[in-house]
Amino acid sequence: MTMLSESATLEKTALETYVAPAKPSLIGLSRLELAEQLGRIGVQPAQRKMRAQQLWHWIYVRGAQAFDEMTSISKEMRGELAQHFTVARPEVVAEQISNDGTRKWLLRLPSGDSVEKAHEVECVYIPETDRGTLCVSSQVGCTLNCSFCHTGTQRLVRNLTAGEIVGQVMVARDRLNDWADRETPNGNRLVTNVVMMGMGEPLYNFEAVRDALLIVSDNEGIGISRRRVTLSTSGVVPNIIRTGDEIGVMLAISLHAVRDELRDELVPLNKKYPLAELLQACRDYPGASNARRITFEYVMLKGVNDSLDDAKLLVKMLKGIPAKINLIPFNPWPGTKYECSDWAQIEKFSEYIFNAGYSSPVRTPRGRDILAACGQLKSETEKLSVRERDALRAMAMTD
Ligand code: SAH
Ligand code: SF4
Repeated sequence: MTMLSESATLEKTALETYVAPAKPSLIGLSRLELAEQLGRIGVQPAQRKMRAQQLWHWIYVRGAQAFDEMTSISKEMRGELAQHFTVARPEVVAEQISNDGTRKWLLRLPSGDSVEKAHEVECVYIPETDRGTLCVSSQVGCTLNCSFCHTGTQRLVRNLTAGEIVGQVMVARDRLNDWADRETPNGNRLVTNVVMMGMGEPLYNFEAVRDALLIVSDNEGIGISRRRVTLSTSGVVPNIIRTGDEIGVMLAISLHAVRDELRDELVPLNKKYPLAELLQACRDYPGASNARRITFEYVMLKGVNDSLDDAKLLVKMLKGIPAKINLIPFNPWPGTKYECSDWAQIEKFSEYIFNAGYSSPVRTPRGRDILAACGQLKSETEKLSVRERDALRAMAMTD
């Protein structure tokens, strides 16, 4: 594989020439599912659990990219495995490195309904002094069409599988040379945090996201603790409690407005699950406490949601919820009607919230030069007309 320092952009083949993998990848399977697959190729029941555990270790601790690397498994067995399966990740077709160190990978996936066609998703790594955060996608595109979000202008093509979600973390570890026994500067892991804040609405792909995050946070595998995994949702209320119960990761809510009328416009899903219901689900979120606060994301849109009255109402409405507020400067994209609030206004807004007792970091935009910042993710292949977009919005509201 090409090393990062040698090339910033990999050679990109045309989408039409994509050939979907012929054999299934074992990535994304639970231990139980691994054992079942082993049964399918004739491994005796008494051996399956132990073999599944070996595979788990090689795949998720060591990052093995081929069965041949799995030296604790007999040669014969490795041959048998290779005949039926792979440990392939999504194919990396491009890699861009921002001048602030942010890296964006464009990944290619089979389309699901046609072997010749492929889809693309993006995954972004953001290094900071005390952590390295990987921003992971859950869907190709998004049905929800938030008016300020670039991803929302993209045609939803399909949900990602659990393997494709875990696969993004594996690709990042591969490209950064960040596996257990590989060289990393001072021996620390580079990917320390995962945020489900890439393309798509994770709670509209609940089962796959759950299965993937359980693998990512498994401490005998990739081992990123649940407290370092954050799932961001635009407010799919019925699945918020399930997230706490079945996944147990940190929750972030894309709030962006404090009045239903405005939120209906910015986050159309609000018409289905209005603010009162959303906030109640946050109050009921299992495991929320002062030590495990819910993050409320608030994108700063000039003249739209950035007045001091908005700040006051925001503080009032979050009363009683263990909350952090994350102000996100709006990242513009071609064709958007919004502008980012003036810096002075963002500071005023942030100061008000801070004085009311909330930590209110303003998220520094990262990777803007490579369109890797929040809401800028979108692959060129999936353009959407205004008419198609309205149709999708109507569909999302009625399901
Ligand atoms: N669908 C999920 C997760 C992905 S979006 C959600 O909406 O929460 C990740 C975050 O980026 C969300 O808070 C989203 O509202 C925000 N975002 C989207 N477009 C943006 C833009 N152009 N500028 C800044 N933030 C944006
Ligand atoms: Fe989808 Fe989130 Fe973008 Fe809204 S902000 S369109 S829910 S990805």
